[in-house]
Amino acid sequence: MTQSLLQIPLDIPDVCIEKVETTAKGEFIITVSSTLTSATCHQCGQRIDKFYGYGREITLRHLSIFDRPVWIKLTPKRYRCPDCPKGPTTTQQCGWYNWKSPHTKAYEQWILRELINSSVTDMDVKHGISAEAAEGIINRHVAQQVDWSAIQGIRLLGLDEIALKKGHQDFVVIVSAIDTEDHKRILAVLPDRKKETVKAFLQNIPEAQQHALQRVCVDMYEGYRNAVYETLPGVEVVVDRFHVAKHYRDGADQVRKAEMKKLKNTLSAEDYAKLKGAMWAFRKRWMELSADQQTVLLFLFQQAPILREVYIQRELLTGIFERRLNKAEAEKALDRWMEHIKVLKLKGFDAFVKTYQNWRNEITNYFIRRETSGFVEGLNNKIKSIKRRCFGIYNTVRLFQHIWLDIEGRRLFGYA
Ligand SMILES: [Zn+2]
Repeated sequence: MTQSLLQIPLDIPDVCIEKVETTAKGEFIITVSSTLTSATCHQCGQRIDKFYGYGREITLRHLSIFDRPVWIKLTPKRYRCPDCPKGPTTTQQCGWYNWKSPHTKAYEQWILRELINSSVTDMDVKHGISAEAAEGIINRHVAQQVDWSAIQGIRLLGLDEIALKKGHQDFVVIVSAIDTEDHKRILAVLPDRKKETVKAFLQNIPEAQQHALQRVCVDMYEGYRNAVYETLPGVEVVVDRFHVAKHYRDGADQVRKAEMKKLKNTLSAEDYAKLKGAMWAFRKRWMELSADQQTVLLFLFQQAPILREVYIQRELLTGIFERRLNKAEAEKALDRWMEHIKVLKLKGFDAFVKTYQNWRNEITNYFIRRETSGFVEGLNNKIKSIKRRCFGIYNTVRLFQHIWLDIEGRRLFGYA
C-alpha cells in the first residue's frame, strides 16, 4: 500500500528544517536550525555576529499536525561581543519562542484560544498539558490587571459581587464595563466589596477612560452607591432590573414556601400530590405554562388564595419594567403598586417595599436608557460557569485573567 504524502509549510520564520522524525507513538520531532546570523549583546545591546558555538539543545512543543503532537528541536547559536569587557557571550533569541517557555509562541496562542470558556484542567485532559503549564501560558500572555491604554473610554460600568464559596460571606467584586466601542470589558476583580476598596478602584480610573462614563450599574448594596457618588459625581447609578426582580421574586417565593408547608399539613396526601410541580409553575409566567401546569397552579390558588394575589402582583410589577415608560412615569407606576400592596396587606413584599423606598431613584434610573439588563446578567452567567470550571479559584488575579480570556480573548486570540 502506498501512503499519500503531503507537504505543508512549517510556518516558522528564519529556520531551516534539518530533519523530521516520527516517534513510535507517532509524534513528530522536527529538528531545525536558525538561519539568523547574529544576536543582541545582553550587556551593551548592540548587534553582534561573532559566532561562538552552540548552547544547549532545546525542545519546544509546537502545534499538532493531524492530531499528533509536534516537537521542535533547536540548538541555539551563541555570539560573543567584541566590545564588552571580558567578551561576554549571548544566546541567540528567535521571535517565535520565548526562552522561558517550553512551547513555541504559536502553540501558546493556540492554547489560549482553547482556554476560552474552558479551564486549565481541561487542557490536561484534552491536550496533555499540565495545569501548571497552562497557568504559565496565561501568565505570559494575559496581564494581571487591566491595560487602560487598550481601552478608549468606558461608558457603562458594572459592579457585581460573587461569593467564592457557597454560603460564604467572602465576596469578590467583578468590575466590568462596556467601552465606547460597545465591547464588553473586565476591569478588575476586587478582593472585597467594602466601600473603601471600591472607591480606591474608581479613583484610579484614568481621566481619559473615565471621561465618557455615564452610568454605573450596581446591585442594591449601600457601599457601591456611596463609593460611586463620592468618587464620580454626576454619574448615574442604576440598579439592574434583574437585581430588582430577584428581590421581589424572592419575596413572593417565601410566601409560596410558607403556604406549601401549611398545605402539607392540612391537605390529604392525595390532594397534596396534585401540587407536584407547583414551585416551577408559580415561578413562571402564565403564558409560559403548559395546560397541565396551569391546572396545578389554579389548584394551588384554590387551596391558598393569598398566593393568587401574590402571583398577580408579582407579574404586574414585572409588567411595569417591561413597559416603555420614562423615569417619571415609572416612578408613578411603581409608587402606585407600592400603595396597592399596602392596601392589600401582602406581607411577602414588605422587604421589597422598604428597599424600593431606599433605592427609588436608582431603580427608576433603569427607565432612562433600559440598557443594563443583558450585560450584567450575561457576565454573571459567564462568571458562574468560570466558577464551575475553575473550582477553587480564590485568587483575584487568576480570576481576572480567566474572565479576561473569556470576555476579551475571543476578540484577540479567537475568530471574533
Ligand atoms: Zn556587548
